[in-house]
Amino acid sequence: MYKNLPKKLDNMLHIWSEFNMLSLKYNALNLAHGTPGIDAPPFLIENMVKAVREGNNQYTAVQGHPELREALSKFYSPRFKPAINRDLDPNTEILVTVGASSALNNAIVNLVDHGEEILTFEPFYPNYMSITKLGRGKFRTIPLKTSPTEDGSALNFEYDWDTFEESLGPQTKVVLLTNPHNPTGKCLRKEEIERITELLEEKAPQAYVISDDVYDFLTYDQDYEMFANVGDNWKKTITIYSGGKLMNCTGWKVGFLIAPPDLTREAALMHESSIFNLNVPGQVAIARSLDLLNQPFEGYNSYPEYVRSTFAKSKDDMVDIFMNSGIPFTPTVCEGGYFVLLDASAARSLIPDQFLTPGNYEDDKDTLVIQREFKNKVPLDYAFARWFCINKGITIMPGSSFCIEKEKDMIDNFIRVAICKPESIVQQTRQILSQ
Ligand code: PMP
Ligand code: GLN
Repeated sequence: MYKNLPKKLDNMLHIWSEFNMLSLKYNALNLAHGTPGIDAPPFLIENMVKAVREGNNQYTAVQGHPELREALSKFYSPRFKPAINRDLDPNTEILVTVGASSALNNAIVNLVDHGEEILTFEPFYPNYMSITKLGRGKFRTIPLKTSPTEDGSALNFEYDWDTFEESLGPQTKVVLLTNPHNPTGKCLRKEEIERITELLEEKAPQAYVISDDVYDFLTYDQDYEMFANVGDNWKKTITIYSGGKLMNCTGWKVGFLIAPPDLTREAALMHESSIFNLNVPGQVAIARSLDLLNQPFEGYNSYPEYVRSTFAKSKDDMVDIFMNSGIPFTPTVCEGGYFVLLDASAARSLIPDQFLTPGNYEDDKDTLVIQREFKNKVPLDYAFARWFCINKGITIMPGSSFCIEKEKDMIDNFIRVAICKPESIVQQTRQILSQ
């Protein structure tokens, strides 16, 4: 064993490592990983083949292929109009990155200095914490609260404004928002953005905001509201998007960030030092496909509308299927994105002891599945997720894997189900859960 390895991430095991391997091993239906079950549109694939054939196979400009930055400016400028009332400058206000993941990395590592605080709502996308740790920043969270919906049939996630206000101060370097949110599916309302804006101005006017909006095109029954568009927010905000999500090509790993020139430049410096360049034919293909997104597709007005409508139906059907599975769940309200959380606390008595006791829960001493270890007690959601995969044949995510360590025991009642799926997978889920 090597003794002197630096433990920059405190052995933090990302949850996908365990559950994707477990899913493969037991040949279960994977509703854990947020991979869209719809493929990229044919026009995008054609454009990729052409881009490769035309010889777009070498490095391009460090900020991203010029054709893509031009196309992104055309595509995203209309929505930034309330903030800047002009087109986005493709040379100074847009950076192309290795998926939204490296946009987050570039933004966080360069903004947060040793010990400076990054504040986000909990549960949160786990990479936020690991990137902050790598950047030697301090990660602070404010748990979202739940309350029953008016008719009592589901749970809503809400902001705890008092705790948010108390948590802001001169130490706050960045507030990180996810809109729509992973894993809760919560979308920011205009009034909520206004409230965050006011509190920031009052308590932490020096703070920057990173708005991770990778699911911007996937809001169900309400509009997508942008943080950067309220008041003077544009000046302090980095907005992050994912070409992989927008066009169902997550494996291509092309993302973008949009921000004022000083913030874009900082992120670009980090990008140049770490990555320098990325998937050039993918950039060209996406550039040439952005316009095509707005053409009719499969009977819908546009490709994003087709995707949104497919996932919205999958969301409703999946919740229905889980609710009628004979396992007691309480649903939560999902307003956008790839996932819905279900409260599984009433299902504890169904879970066999082997999953609730620390140790190897598989009857396989040679297992190759990397298992997250717990010393005293296995959180309910982990026990549920492991049992559900091995015994029921469906893989889902334990919700507390989106929480900091000390909260894991407190919020261990939610499981996350991926609803970014077509009808065929919904049917498969129905079939498995009706057995
Ligand atoms: N942010 C959030 C909230 C996500 O769910 C994801 C999904 N992986 C990402 C960022 C990363 O996106 P990408 O695949 O474009 O790197
Ligand atoms: N966003 C996806 C999820 O939350 C994928 C994340 C990943 O692959 N690391 O499941």
